[in-house]
Amino acid sequence: KLYNQVQDLKGSIRVYCRVRPFLPGQLSGNTLGSIDEGSITIVTPSKYGKEGQEVFSDTQPLIRSILDGYNVCIFAYGQTGSGKTYTMSGPKLLNEQTVGVNYRALSDLFKLSEQRRGIFSYEIAVQMIEIYNEQVRDLLVGDVFSFTKSTLEIRNNSQKGLNVPNANLVPVTSTSDVIELMNIGQRNRVVGATALNDRSSRSHSCLTVHVQGKDMTSGTILRGCLHLVDLAGSERVDKSEVTGERLKEAQHINKSLSALGDVISALALKNSHVPYRNSKLTQLLQDSLGGQAKTLMFVHISPEMDAIGETLSTLKFAERVS
Ligand code: ADP
Ligand code: MG
Repeated sequence: KLYNQVQDLKGSIRVYCRVRPFLPGQLSGNTLGSIDEGSITIVTPSKYGKEGQEVFSDTQPLIRSILDGYNVCIFAYGQTGSGKTYTMSGPKLLNEQTVGVNYRALSDLFKLSEQRRGIFSYEIAVQMIEIYNEQVRDLLVGDVFSFTKSTLEIRNNSQKGLNVPNANLVPVTSTSDVIELMNIGQRNRVVGATALNDRSSRSHSCLTVHVQGKDMTSGTILRGCLHLVDLAGSERVDKSEVTGERLKEAQHINKSLSALGDVISALALKNSHVPYRNSKLTQLLQDSLGGQAKTLMFVHISPEMDAIGETLSTLKFAERVS
């Protein structure tokens, strides 16, 4: 009952907490149960929880706003194995019911732009990048794409709203076009990773859908974008146990996730200074966090008691940003 429910922790940004169910073969006796730890209480969320379907329907007004020229960020946060990729992309075997946020958001985007045909004409294009060790890399690389440099620069306030102007920008006309690009990006994300070294959990990936709409009567151009961000695993590594490359990765992840938390909480508190410059992730998303932009975050926790330390730190993060 406790699991696979999504609870809405409403605030100035929308934050949802999703509890992964036990995996096949896992002992379900090792459960979290009810926990009261300072300001955080975990209760059986069936009373308050929302079904996944309802959460997905909450993304619809956000998607509509992109077509009106607003920027939207949707994040997946949580320790490795807690279900981030599952929420964003869905399980390996997909059907209408199980598709993730990405698919739903994109299909809504294309459906709505189609409904406005004749009133607006839309051009939609996609970029996909990863941030690994504070370096920005293009994930849309390979024979079918133009050559891009191995590390890319972020520019804010650039023309046409492209914050990474040198990453490949690929025009798309349907949800399946985007899913195909996403799969290519996902494959490029794990290239170079060995079995012990799953890089996808230690880099942030960001798929950005750029939408440009032209008002057919006035000729006015509206630009909006959607960032779909699968964050690096938030788990803390024990500094006494890791050295070298792994420690460096951990420090970069730690730094960028706290920078993200600092930015969102500064926005939530309406602080006059918002520290966007402290990480590549927040620089990249600068014009999509705060202002008129809309943010939705899914934080993920694992159901096992063993994960309690990470679970509490994830919930504290959620509390800080909501
Ligand atoms: P992460 O991306 O955070 O590392 P994954 O999304 O890969 O985690 O999830 C880890 C495992 O748990 C995968 O096998 C995934 O299919 C499964 N899983 C995650 N969330 C759910 C869920 N809500 N329902 C069923 N299985 C899930
Ligand atoms: Mg993942």
